[in-house]
Amino acid sequence: MKSSISVRDLTLNFGAVSVLKNLNLEVAEGEFIVLLGPSGCGKSTLLNCLAGLLDLSDGQIWIKGQNVTWAEPNERGIGMVFQSYALYPQMTVRGNLSFGLKNARMPQAEIDRRVARAAEILQIGPLLDRKPGALSGGQRQRVAIGRALVRDVDVFLFDEPLSNLDAKLRSELRVEIKRLHARLGNTMVYVTHDQIEALTLADRIAVMRGGIIQQLDAPQTIYNKPANLFVAGFIGSPS
Ligand code: ADP
Ligand code: MG
Repeated sequence: MKSSISVRDLTLNFGAVSVLKNLNLEVAEGEFIVLLGPSGCGKSTLLNCLAGLLDLSDGQIWIKGQNVTWAEPNERGIGMVFQSYALYPQMTVRGNLSFGLKNARMPQAEIDRRVARAAEILQIGPLLDRKPGALSGGQRQRVAIGRALVRDVDVFLFDEPLSNLDAKLRSELRVEIKRLHARLGNTMVYVTHDQIEALTLADRIAVMRGGIIQQLDAPQTIYNKPANLFVAGFIGSPS
């Protein structure tokens, strides 16, 4: 199994508080990993470390065989999708999708090709000339995913991307994200506190508590053979 992401003895302190403690995690190429745990357990912090948005207190992060511990976010071959969409409100959908590529001085023809492909995959073609304010929450989140997609990254990071959506849209987009993964075959690290989301999306689930991975296993194993009482209780009581 080829490794896509390797987290080695990662420690992250905020002041005197240790939020991630000597954490190790190996993610295989093409794997869909879900980080699952209650609010405050360190899921977003771990994702932000992978994205390069936080400096580690100790340890290393490797992506595709490169030590990226001190690499800038845009040098890591990753795309991140946030709960809050983080779209530019004054730009059209097309503008939001193209912005990063334009900044990287990509030729316009290649930008157009990538935007068209993302629009087709995410079914947002008819929305390209609208602004985010004119879109529903589900449509905005598709655009946010599109922004990672056009960059042609190896690794997608998702931080609770469906938490702002109602139940029906949540299950729709869950299917969409699963389809996207099947089509692209890239590595995905997906943060959620929702047990159902984790069980339906993941190849493997990392159940976290207090900055420590309690169990890392396939959904079936987590469900049928929880490693401890915490995992059993957390998986057994969908929110
Ligand atoms: P989760 O995403 O699992 O809900 P977080 O990773 O956001 O958890 O937070 C983990 C812990 O770190 C929490 O106790 C939170 O209060 C703390 N924390 C997160 N960000 C900061 C920060 N910038 N400064 C200080 N403490 C933080
Ligand atoms: Mg969080």
